[in-house]
Amino acid sequence: MDFIPLANPDIRESDINLVNDVLRSGMLVQGKYVEKLEQRFAEIVEVSNGIAVSNGTATMHLALRVLGIGPGDEVIVPAFSYVATANVVELVGATPVFVDIDINTFNIDTEKIEAKITKSTKAIIPVHEFGLSCDIEAVVEIARQYNLFVIEDAACAFGATQNGKSVGSFGDFGSFSLHPRKSITSGEGGIITTDNRGYAKKIGQLRNHGIEYVNGQMEFVAPGFNYRMTDFQAALAYGQSLRIEEIIQLKNTLADVYLNEISNSDIKLPYIPHDRNHTWQTFHIVLGDKYEQQAVIRKLKDNNIGVNYGAQCIPATHYYQQKYGLNYTSLFPSAYRAYKSGIALPCYEKLNIEQVKYIANVINLL
Ligand SMILES: *Cc1c(COP(=O)(O)O)cnc(C)c1O
Repeated sequence: MDFIPLANPDIRESDINLVNDVLRSGMLVQGKYVEKLEQRFAEIVEVSNGIAVSNGTATMHLALRVLGIGPGDEVIVPAFSYVATANVVELVGATPVFVDIDINTFNIDTEKIEAKITKSTKAIIPVHEFGLSCDIEAVVEIARQYNLFVIEDAACAFGATQNGKSVGSFGDFGSFSLHPRKSITSGEGGIITTDNRGYAKKIGQLRNHGIEYVNGQMEFVAPGFNYRMTDFQAALAYGQSLRIEEIIQLKNTLADVYLNEISNSDIKLPYIPHDRNHTWQTFHIVLGDKYEQQAVIRKLKDNNIGVNYGAQCIPATHYYQQKYGLNYTSLFPSAYRAYKSGIALPCYEKLNIEQVKYIANVINLL
């Protein structure tokens, strides 16, 4: 079996042709494909506004800025995610308050949120980890009760739903990443979705140096960023965005093969609640106690399978440990277990069923 990488984006000739269109046009920054991509996201997520920016982290940074969250404020985040979810809170000078996850879904344990709410809490950033919606209905319910904003970190979850409603449409904002490890990619890129036109307008300004056109004249109305997306990046993602349903279906076919073929009883398989679909950004398993994560990663690599751990227990990473010194093993046992025993397996369109069966078989023989 040839080496199977952990990720390998499916860029087709038709996608490359769209990129070439832009390159030949000479209009390289924020043009018609940025607009098309924004409309496509708004259509799929079923919100009135999609705004394209330079990456997924920038989407959340902008959302926090637009909400005016800063020093003295607290923002609730899951203890298990990619570090960017907490870093954006640090970037605006607010304090991330960590909540443990449910080890079955790898998403925030909604039962544990209320205990972490204080007078300083302003927002919740729930993550739809690995492409599965968290219990976003429960999160929004709590947020309403306590008057908190919700920024959905849907970086991995374009196309995911709970009870048929798309992630990114429940909260005040939905945040999507177009990094090559996600379901569709622009290389680097991010899309922020919102139903609030006022927020959308402010984000549009902040991504572009605080520029607003007043009576056709360019005014600099805020100290903005340059978080623009180039038009050739947007063209690359736009072509793929037209196939999103097909991509999700194909990943589900591959995930079903894993679910049917992995029979090793010391491996915990992912769980999908009945009210949700799974978009399988990552097929994430948890190793039983008899295994050591690094040894398993090496063993899989020896068998030509590229794998890695899935995400961080953020309070256990160097920066957060130095700053907050939280006792993560006792405070966030599920997040820590997922961090130390989780393995992300390849799951993307370019894989075939034989390759997935081969990987499942290697896992069974661990
Ligand atoms: C990928 C990812 C991000 C960051 O997105 P970038 O586009 O790499 O900035 C944030 N949160 C989660 C959960 C992610 O998986």
